[in-house]
Amino acid sequence: MVLSTISGFARRENRDRTMDSICRKCYATVATAYWELDLEIAEHSHVCDPAVLQYWNSRDGPKKTNQPAMRPSPSPTK
Ligand SMILES: [Zn+2]
Repeated sequence: MVLSTISGFARRENRDRTMDSICRKCYATVATAYWELDLEIAEHSHVCDPAVLQYWNSRDGPKKTNQPAMRPSPSPTK
């Protein structure tokens, strides 16, 4: 179950009654804690990793790239 917050973080309740705080920008699990205050402290000090942000930004969006196929195509000669 994901509980949204007004901040840039989402909260998720775990089976063991702990809660995860997930950054909405870089999708990192910032903290796992029993107490909301612990999550807020971790959220306050969280700084997104620029490399991770660049990774996510490159994955979505309408831009298309002409990347070569990952697998080599089968040889037509036999
Ligand atoms: Zn982040």
